[in-house]
Amino acid sequence: MIYTFFNNKFVPSDEARINVRNNSFNYGTAIFEGIRAYWNKEHKQMYILKMEDHYRRLMQGSRFLNFDLAYSLEDYCRITLELIKKNNHKEDVYIRPLVYYTPDKISPKFVGYEAGFTLYTVPMGDYIDVSKGIKVCVSTWRRISENMAPARFKLCGIYVNSALAKTEALERGLDEAIMLNSDGHVAEGSAENIFIIRDRELITPSVADDILEGITRKALIGICREELGYKVIERKIDRTELHICDEVFLCGTGAQVSPVIEVDGKKVGDGSVGPITQKIQKLYFGIVKGENEKYREWLTPVY
Ligand code: PMP
Repeated sequence: MIYTFFNNKFVPSDEARINVRNNSFNYGTAIFEGIRAYWNKEHKQMYILKMEDHYRRLMQGSRFLNFDLAYSLEDYCRITLELIKKNNHKEDVYIRPLVYYTPDKISPKFVGYEAGFTLYTVPMGDYIDVSKGIKVCVSTWRRISENMAPARFKLCGIYVNSALAKTEALERGLDEAIMLNSDGHVAEGSAENIFIIRDRELITPSVADDILEGITRKALIGICREELGYKVIERKIDRTELHICDEVFLCGTGAQVSPVIEVDGKKVGDGSVGPITQKIQKLYFGIVKGENEKYREWLTPVY
């Protein structure tokens, strides 16, 4: 039996249902997170990656959107641990918390409605193939801009923007789309932040470039500087830089560290997975799987 946390209790997943008239279902007035937990066979342990950071982002967004919920950071973490134990997962899983409006009400607004919290888990391997490198396009869809709706939060309705870009890429036979922001600079992938590498320096758009403030992005900036000794710059990226740089990779909880080998039909570098991206991948996967003692504080063991 797989359980879901719903209406303040653990219920069999089939019973976690909302009405078609639900406000958040109708208007996307909800906010979510995506968290990964990695199963380490040797340790017989499940490690949840950066759990508190994810719930902090959820709580920041919830506050901004007036979701009035009684759960504390500790409550969210405790419920998450309990759910994984209850579901007895012994494989990599994706954890999906969602804060939404419970009433069945017509009118899109972020005020005057009661908020609810639900949490479910799904087994998940690689969201994107991380080994051989992916082919992407620059999407004709622009990333939603700050003064339309805040891209920095995982606001459900905003994911229409991601879905349009990703669909365009898939329909062109590609793996992912890179969106430009409304001023024409590189923003991010449909569900990933982006880094380019030029002359051994890493460059990524700043948090004021209409990107989701990614937890993986921040973590990678840290380890690339401190552990690997690279210079990392946060600045605007022009679209031509995607073609003249040496390496490109996407990153995110789902995407992990995902090398890009082609942009709009043009090879990135020599068209193979670059050496710096490989180095970053190796370090990242060691850390998230619990094989690197030094970074154990990124992880919360479940069992
Ligand atoms: N950008 C978007 C639009 C995303 O949906 C995600 C996935 N959450 C990311 C970037 C990466 O963020 P994180 O590293 O926090 O998963």
